[in-house]
Amino acid sequence: MNSVNDDKHPNKKAIAANEERFRALVNATSDIVYIMSADWREMKQLEGRNFLADTNEPLTDWISKYIHPLDQDQVRTAIDDAKRENKVFQLEHRVLRADGSIGWILSRAVPIFDDNGNVREWFGAASDITETKRAEEALKLAKEITEQQKRVYETIANSTPDLMYVFDLQYNFIYANEALLTMWGKSWDNAIGKGLLENGYEPWHAEMHQREIDHVRTTKTAIRGEVSFPHALLGKRVYDYIFTPVLNDAGEVEAVAGTTRDITDIKQNEQRKNDFIGMVSHELKTPLTSLTAYLQLMEKSEPAKHDPMTKRILEQSIKQSRRMTNMINGFLNLARLESGKMFIEKGPFDFATFLQEIAEETRMLYTQHRFIFPDIAPVIINGDMGKLAQVINNLLGNAVKYSNIGSQITTSATIEGDQLKISVSDEGTGIPQEEISKLFDRFYRGQNNNLIAGFGIGLYVCREIIEGHGGKIWVEQSTDQGSTFCFTLPV
Ligand code: ADP
Repeated sequence: MNSVNDDKHPNKKAIAANEERFRALVNATSDIVYIMSADWREMKQLEGRNFLADTNEPLTDWISKYIHPLDQDQVRTAIDDAKRENKVFQLEHRVLRADGSIGWILSRAVPIFDDNGNVREWFGAASDITETKRAEEALKLAKEITEQQKRVYETIANSTPDLMYVFDLQYNFIYANEALLTMWGKSWDNAIGKGLLENGYEPWHAEMHQREIDHVRTTKTAIRGEVSFPHALLGKRVYDYIFTPVLNDAGEVEAVAGTTRDITDIKQNEQRKNDFIGMVSHELKTPLTSLTAYLQLMEKSEPAKHDPMTKRILEQSIKQSRRMTNMINGFLNLARLESGKMFIEKGPFDFATFLQEIAEETRMLYTQHRFIFPDIAPVIINGDMGKLAQVINNLLGNAVKYSNIGSQITTSATIEGDQLKISVSDEGTGIPQEEISKLFDRFYRGQNNNLIAGFGIGLYVCREIIEGHGGKIWVEQSTDQGSTFCFTLPV
């Protein structure tokens, strides 16, 4: 670089020394250094340090050699601006690298003046900012993707009629979808960051949800519930809700997300259906009761007069009408249970006598199985005799239904501590292991018994009756050799 031509002049010597030091500094701190002619037409020199190809001879088509086509105009404009006022040229732009790839540089150039104050040349330095630019671009892209995902989730959350929300661990709402804001009759700004009480929940209701949030937080598991709540526009509604933990990277609960569904219509439909079942069963029961009574009367009236054929027909008719009565009782119980009107009317009675009566009735009703009933000492139970009879009849009926003709059905009754334990065992096909936990659910029917008539309500009603007596009911064991159903009653 022969920019200083008379180095004997003391001033010039000093300038030259300064210039050298400056260049050394720039060289040490920059990735690229370059020198341009005063009007920028010619690149006098460029040291590209493997990033850009070096230029050792003056070069006029440097723009097309180094500058990315899309950035060339921008570079020209920045040069014109710098030249106009002889101020620093500074620009971030893309370049064509020595290896043919595209890079980014931050380029700065300062004018160097001669003794007369005219620009002699421009001295430039540039740093490779490709990595920073790439990171910036990746970040921008990631942001765009996040924004887009946010738009998608928000559209979903705001187009569902279900209520969606998130609580922080101080029980404040940090998110509420449009359905929830509408239900409250509030705007986002008025509702978000606020707690349950501030958003209009009654104290009992707010406390209940706070307890549930605590539960979700400590157990890290979801919780489900049902509650009535007044809607701003629709009045009192019934809601089914689920609170779920939101876990952070460390697996800690950082928030609790919830969804709530309005099930008022479903509940009303269910109620209508139950009322219907209840009404139909009741209407059917009245004539059936008289029918059974007449048949029994006929059977008892001068039996000697009956020929064997009539006797058998009478027996069968009574048997079938009892079966039908049992079935209708099941429906009546279901309807009462569902509407919360199944009352257990307890009174003391002797279980031993009660079981004997059941034994007689069962042997009369089911003639194709062998029954074994225990002979037990008197034991007083405080319970609803009619409903307990339904439970045992149901277990016996199932034992008959799900086992072969001629097989044995054994009932036992034992006292264990302060509990009376009754069990009914059959030699039937048994129950698949995975179904056992569902047997007592309403309307649940085993997968393999499509051919056997039933409604899947028997065991459900049994469980409600037994639990209503403070007892328990369960499947003690079930293999392909048969099943044993048990229940307990406090003595
Ligand atoms: P239903 O007999 O009308 O289907 P239940 O509620 O009485 O309804 O019984 C539910 C299910 O439990 C039955 O569908 C059947 O799969 C199973 N189950 C009940 N008792 C027995 C039994 N003794 N042996 C085998 N499976 C049984």
